[in-house]
Amino acid sequence: MKLTVDIPRVTDDDRVIEAALKDAHIPSLMAALVHITGDAGIVRGEIRPASGFFIDAQGGITEAQQARVRALALEALKAYRDGKKLGAVPNAALVHEMVEFIAGREMRGDYSEFLEAELALAGEDAYAQPGLKALPAQDRAKFNVVIVGAGMSGLLAGIRLKEAGIPFTIVERHGDVGGTWHQNTYPGCRVDSPNHMYSYSFKPKDWPQHYSPQAVLKQYFADVADEFGLRGSIRFNTDVREMAWDDDRGVWSVVVEPRGGKRETLEANAVISAVGQLNRPKWPDLPGQDTFKGIAFHSTQWEHQHDLKGKRVLVIGTGASAFQFVPEVAKVAKEVVVFQRTAPWMCPVPEYHDDIPAGKHWLLNNVPYYAKWYRFAVFWRNAEGILDAAEADPSWNQTDVAISAQNDQVRQMFYEHIKSIVGDDPELLAKCTPNYPVAGKRILFDNGNWLRALKRDNVRVVTDPIKGIDATGIVTKSGERYDGDVLIYGTGFTASKFLWPMRVVGRGGRELEKHWNGDPRAYKGIAIPHFPNLFCMYGPNTNIVVNGSIIFFSECEMRYILSCIEQLIRGKHKAMDVKRDVHDRYNDVIDAGNARMAWGISKAPTWYRNEKGHVTQNWPFSLIRFWMETKTADPRDFAFTD
Ligand code: NAP
Repeated sequence: MKLTVDIPRVTDDDRVIEAALKDAHIPSLMAALVHITGDAGIVRGEIRPASGFFIDAQGGITEAQQARVRALALEALKAYRDGKKLGAVPNAALVHEMVEFIAGREMRGDYSEFLEAELALAGEDAYAQPGLKALPAQDRAKFNVVIVGAGMSGLLAGIRLKEAGIPFTIVERHGDVGGTWHQNTYPGCRVDSPNHMYSYSFKPKDWPQHYSPQAVLKQYFADVADEFGLRGSIRFNTDVREMAWDDDRGVWSVVVEPRGGKRETLEANAVISAVGQLNRPKWPDLPGQDTFKGIAFHSTQWEHQHDLKGKRVLVIGTGASAFQFVPEVAKVAKEVVVFQRTAPWMCPVPEYHDDIPAGKHWLLNNVPYYAKWYRFAVFWRNAEGILDAAEADPSWNQTDVAISAQNDQVRQMFYEHIKSIVGDDPELLAKCTPNYPVAGKRILFDNGNWLRALKRDNVRVVTDPIKGIDATGIVTKSGERYDGDVLIYGTGFTASKFLWPMRVVGRGGRELEKHWNGDPRAYKGIAIPHFPNLFCMYGPNTNIVVNGSIIFFSECEMRYILSCIEQLIRGKHKAMDVKRDVHDRYNDVIDAGNARMAWGISKAPTWYRNEKGHVTQNWPFSLIRFWMETKTADPRDFAFTD
């Protein structure tokens, strides 16, 4: 796939340009102006963005400086519209300078390689493996892959394999593509990574909002499936029941079952599991749970046929899903009682529900290179996020609520946000203030919507633990009773049961579920010893907490998987099996990394740890580290069989 750099023309009049520039992200505009004018001095002057979590989105550039940049941009865009040619294409040294300009800091070595590749300014594809495509077409055509799942990762796998000329079949349980964005339809559902970053590197979109609603995300993935012609390769409404490795033939036998149809077996040289982590509902195990006579459903299986208008609604859970649907339900229900076990930390994000302003759309669509630099700026701002602040400082006097000076600083900032909205209600403020360090569990994004919903007259927050459920409602430990017409479980997912409930049988009849024994591990989250030619996407320890986008991770994983497939085909190998000691050493490093992070230290309940208390979900390091580690597969890490 050759990425294209669209170079738009400006055709609008001065008034339109001037109005649009009011919405400009100034650092991105300045970088774009270097392309438009050819004047590198624009990024070498005194107007420079600073970088950091606490700096505003304009990088601390003052209003007066912003006005100067807008005036310069107006003249440059008018001249471009009136026929002036773009400046010379910036050379590598200047691009590097511009990267440092946007990042607000010096960049060296791996970091600049990574960021300049992400930027893909000249249209290079940072995640393709050109070596695979260079292999003889007939060898590639003989290889065959089954991909499990047509969500974000599975579609990506299909796109990359198609590009590489490798036959594949995607097996998808649901009737459409989109994975989590197809499945979760609860009111208020939206992405909570910035959309200009939460998109494939090769498929930018002019998003309607900074954090777009579920329907927009679902459409994005549907459009991708159509554009890359994937639908014909997807078997919809079909479950993978089991898969078994045949060592003699070097194939996986994959047993699939179409809904209402007969089981059949597909054969593949390799299997890519792209099943996601967050799709199988986790139901609590509360006494009397099945005796409730009203309407009850899980957030991920929202029963839209029930009109909640005027209803008494009970909600269990205050995680990312409840956080989004409770404010919507509260607008129509007669009353909402929210049962909270652990208060979430929330990061103030004022633009969380905002439309992208018209001027910003104009800039993204009309100003040469602006969209590229804007994605890059958003990516950088979120690249390492508050990762440093999530790591413990052993020399700092740690408390129950903070693990480093920086962690404490972020805690105070988040606390001020909570106080600014519910500070006038000391009881609610106490309930809404978490008692564990920031990043001890998932941080939520908030523009005040959640806290304002909790303040409504028709909403109550109950922190008294649930004792049980009966025919009419919930009873708490203190004996208080809360009756309701509808009970909504916002209780999350069985995230740590990777690949479950598929039965996966590897070498020598080894079953994956037994092999993992409740503690899933993989090499780079992708390869599992004794399960040759099985590659996971969004596998163990590839979830990110406070930085980046999971699409970025999937792109890295797929690049690595392509490298594995390349080695299998090039060497005419039947199988590659990651070496146990390599896998174990890798996981020791991951464990040590997670043990230093807030989610590894905090005792707050979280899906980041499995039932054994082990962090099997999260990647504890920087994005750059994962990017470097997944550039290519090192053949020394694997045992090959022919
Ligand atoms: P979750 O974060 O696991 O939250 C589950 C909630 O249910 C928690 O508040 C939990 O309390 C509570 N709970 C579970 N069992 C309970 C019990 N027996 N009694 C009382 N309370 C109980 O699940 P989620 O909200 O569905 O989110 C899961 C993940 O999906 C998120 O972390 C995120 O990664 C992803 N997600 C993303 C988005 C987005 O991008 N917009 C939206 C939704 C979800 P404790 O906190 O005490 O465990």
